[in-house]
Amino acid sequence: MSLIVQKYGGTSVADVQCIKNVAQRIKSTRDQGHSVIVVVSARSGVTNELIARAKALHSKPDEREMDMLLSVGEQETIALVSIALHALGVPAVSRTGAQAGITTDVCHTRARIKDISGGDLREQIAKGNVIIVAGFQGLSESGQITTLGRGGSDLTAIALAGALKADACQIFTDVDGVYTADPRIVPNARKIHEIAYEEMLELASSGSKVMQSRSVEFAQKFNIPFEVRSSFNQQPGTIVKEEVTMLEGLLVTGVALDRNQSKITLSELPDQPGTAAKVFQALSDANVVVDMIVQNIGRKGLANITFTVSRDDVDRAELAVRKAFADKNQPDFVTATDIAKLSVVGVGMRSQPGAAAKLFEALAKSSINVNLIGTSEIKISVAIDPDKADQAVRVVHDAFDLGK
Ligand code: ASP
Ligand code: MG
Repeated sequence: MSLIVQKYGGTSVADVQCIKNVAQRIKSTRDQGHSVIVVVSARSGVTNELIARAKALHSKPDEREMDMLLSVGEQETIALVSIALHALGVPAVSRTGAQAGITTDVCHTRARIKDISGGDLREQIAKGNVIIVAGFQGLSESGQITTLGRGGSDLTAIALAGALKADACQIFTDVDGVYTADPRIVPNARKIHEIAYEEMLELASSGSKVMQSRSVEFAQKFNIPFEVRSSFNQQPGTIVKEEVTMLEGLLVTGVALDRNQSKITLSELPDQPGTAAKVFQALSDANVVVDMIVQNIGRKGLANITFTVSRDDVDRAELAVRKAFADKNQPDFVTATDIAKLSVVGVGMRSQPGAAAKLFEALAKSSINVNLIGTSEIKISVAIDPDKADQAVRVVHDAFDLGK
């Protein structure tokens, strides 16, 4: 008998009807003779709603209290799914993160998992029960409820599958799997059958918001293969694993778009050692994640530095830099502009040349200007005008021959 971990996201348990549908799926998996552990998210919208309520009461709510509050969303759904299974005659029990023995550090709202004992999960499996575990939450060593960062139910599922040595981990969501590009933008985008962890990770952090990046990182680190598939149909999804059978000559696996980016330019900074260190130390202290970075050649002892950050971090980034350069005559040395980041991702880039040339040629043909360029071993990202982003994704997807 095999052990399967299934995770259902917020849209899959959005209301009573959806929960009935999920219970039916769990039942049929069990009827096929598998042991099932289910991880669920809060109903879609609930976490956001709870955050909004807290923010209506305080502009910077205490993070411990936020964890106390947000963990409630998942606790509602574990009980409801369990009750729905009982209605189908399936023995089921719900467990919180703490009851499942998920121990984390004390970093509230973005805790890291330190250990998973599994609590009484193994016993419950032996008894033939389906276990419904609350995603996104854990317990710190000092006994405080913690949460694992937005989208953290993915991480709960993957970590549990790893800890309990599950035979399969299935992430059920509202999309059919991972596509070569967002099918809403590129109608002939193709579902990818198999993808490597590192490609999935680059896609996830480049704007293909199928899964929480941290969960993919965790899966890669501990080699926990998983499948992303839809809870609304029976189609097989995308398998994410270490080694994928590479199609001959496939240079690029997917095109991702992140519209939520801004470019910040710092002009006329002193062109001397220590300036970049000062900028990026200030940003790091302010907890701002920086993506692409460009420094222009200095003139008259002055240089410009441009970098990109998530749009939500622009204010924090500006403030941090202004503080770091408080001695400078302030007004307009910082300018922020909205950009879109398009990325092409593929392990094929490691062994074959030409990805950059093809990308730039496709963009040039459509007169799309490239503002900034960033690369990794398996990714090339460009910052472009947000108004041209959709068109850019389509022409690049075509250029790499990714369509059906
Ligand atoms: N409910 C949490 C969130 O909305 C965790 C999750 O859905 O994975 O971020
Ligand atoms: Mg999610």
